[in-house]
Amino acid sequence: MTQLDADQLTALHGAVEARRDAMTADLVTYAMLETPSDDVALLRAGLAWIERWLAETVGPAADRREHRVGGHGDAVTLDLASPSGSAEWVTALCHYDTVWPSGTTTDWPVAIDGDRMTGPGVFDMKSGLVQLGTSLAVSDALGLPRPNVRLVLTGDEETGSIASRGVIEAESAKGGPVLVFESAAKGAVKTARKGVGIFRVEATGVEVHAGLHPAGGASAVDEIARVVLALHGAADHEAGTSLNVGLVEGGTRTNVRAGRATAMVDVRITSAAEMARVEAVLAGLRAHDPLASLRVTGGWNRPPMERTPATAALFERARDVAGRVGFELREVSVGGASDGNFAAALGLPVLDGVGGVGGGAHARHEWISLDGMVERTVFVSALLADLA
Ligand SMILES: [Zn+2]
Repeated sequence: MTQLDADQLTALHGAVEARRDAMTADLVTYAMLETPSDDVALLRAGLAWIERWLAETVGPAADRREHRVGGHGDAVTLDLASPSGSAEWVTALCHYDTVWPSGTTTDWPVAIDGDRMTGPGVFDMKSGLVQLGTSLAVSDALGLPRPNVRLVLTGDEETGSIASRGVIEAESAKGGPVLVFESAAKGAVKTARKGVGIFRVEATGVEVHAGLHPAGGASAVDEIARVVLALHGAADHEAGTSLNVGLVEGGTRTNVRAGRATAMVDVRITSAAEMARVEAVLAGLRAHDPLASLRVTGGWNRPPMERTPATAALFERARDVAGRVGFELREVSVGGASDGNFAAALGLPVLDGVGGVGGGAHARHEWISLDGMVERTVFVSALLADLA
């Protein structure tokens, strides 16, 4: 643990400020390289650019582990060894895919207006990678202490990290705090995120003529209606648990007792205990009519990221560092999930949202602040020194 002294902080501010234009240009280049989650060829090209850029900016990686994932962007882990001789490790998570389809830059190219840069992926989360790479380059050039950084680059975060989840877990489990370079929430880091599950309930009934046999058969629509009430009734907004049946379909005709109906539910929870409670509710669903049956499929996409004592302690250190750098760092808990959820579920301290400052994730106006980019790059260097 090394606190930078006033002279070091001044030198750090100066060195990052001197790289402002280069960083801005790097981010423009990176964002103009489109990397949609569903285009493997573009993802490959994007990843190749990132690796070249990191090699030029930070230097060659001490080790490189490639995890090919069919049909998605590959995951690559780079060990960026500490030149200062620190024995500590930090895991940095960066996804390089974006939600924007190829061709987006044709009518929405990256643009800069004063302090604001807009363009596909600049906020979520290309600024985070550029800030991290620049911060490592500056720290190393100034001879500041920093830990070894295990940088995990993944290309399927926006589609749920189905393919890269195992890599994220295996690499994070090697130890050390986990920093997620997703963008900040109105400048705040995220110390808690909800877990997300998507489930499908299918009811099977028995079709009969609704006029001739009003009491016969079994209605799948009736079953699903009861399921909707049961699931919505299981929400606990005080505990942060929501269940939303956002999609219902079923039946064939008004004069037929419905033979089939389904409900799709989005579940958000804040704790493992609530996750277990909702699982029990889903497992306990029973058909009301003995002739009907229910089947639940789907599952959890990401576990909750809880604000554990270890994460709270990491945040306190980060807040101290930010104070010395010259800004007040706040923390928030958010409903959306990220790859930080996987690391947190392993019991590791996680600080999420150490990337860009701006707004509009997944929206046509997503933007970052260039001053924020400089500020957070200084912050990351100072935080890494603290963790060295
Ligand atoms: Zn993201």
